Amino acid sequence: MVSVAVPGDPRNGLVPMGSMPQVAELEEGLVRILAPNASPMTLDGTNTYLVYGGNRAVYLVDPGPTDAAHFGRIAEAIEARRLEPRGVVLTHHHIDHSESAHRFSREWSVPILAGALEDPGSPAILVEEGDTIDLDGQRLTAMHTPGHTADHLCFMLPSGRALTGDHVLGRGTSVVAYPDGDLERYLRSLLQLESAGPRGMYPGHGPELSEETAADVLDYYISHRMYRISQVLEAFSDVRTSVADAVRGIYGQSIPAGLFFAAELSTRAAIAMLMKRGYLEVAGDDDHYVRAGAGVERLLDELVADRRRPL
Ligand SMILES: [Zn+2]
Repeated sequence: MVSVAVPGDPRNGLVPMGSMPQVAELEEGLVRILAPNASPMTLDGTNTYLVYGGNRAVYLVDPGPTDAAHFGRIAEAIEARRLEPRGVVLTHHHIDHSESAHRFSREWSVPILAGALEDPGSPAILVEEGDTIDLDGQRLTAMHTPGHTADHLCFMLPSGRALTGDHVLGRGTSVVAYPDGDLERYLRSLLQLESAGPRGMYPGHGPELSEETAADVLDYYISHRMYRISQVLEAFSDVRTSVADAVRGIYGQSIPAGLFFAAELSTRAAIAMLMKRGYLEVAGDDDHYVRAGAGVERLLDELVADRRRPL
């Protein structure tokens, strides 16, 4: 039997879907502009952030989709504060965050800063763990948080709050998009962010998370993931179980049909991790697996113990 308990979401009922303001000043030197691309995957829409300091230099974090109304709100917020664009920062390469990056880079003649350089033709700067962008009173400190994608970055601010991209969302949980996404790295990145102890979070989708909620949400994200992993292991107690059977058994009617592919990607990510750690074995083909004996009760302890070891 699996002893990992079903965790409860500490954000339930905090901010109803669809009630986020289009533009919000969240703290000194930080404005959030909500892109009009709401969907089951992007929740209320993509959060674009303006991060700026006393010298008026501004970085645009996750410019979001190509959309005239969104561009208008970004330009308005920049003009109203007399800011001077210096760069476009990406938390990760997914299109809902990055689609308009090249447009802003060209229009403003500024570089794109990201955790991976996919297009060598553009003016781009590779951001690594610990890199900082100083903005006269405001500062972005990069934390490499792979898992959702290999190139994912979070950014700590001097306020102690963190821009978390799709590593931690304002509602729901993140997809570990296998094979670019990696569940073991994702869990270790959650533990890394948890040990940084953010005093609030500004996610890539959904509302901001207060200091009181932030620690609970990180705890929930880790326990939710461990619960899912234990469900995957449990599902493969029978050698006849296919991956699709496992996804149906675990998620059942709890997800819309359009999100089934995302649930399968997350399940495949759990399978890859459990295989690597010796908890699952292949049973005939890459669609059938069987558990190798042990339960996952010790898995989180293993990850905590391994936290400082390079992957
Ligand atoms: Zn996203």
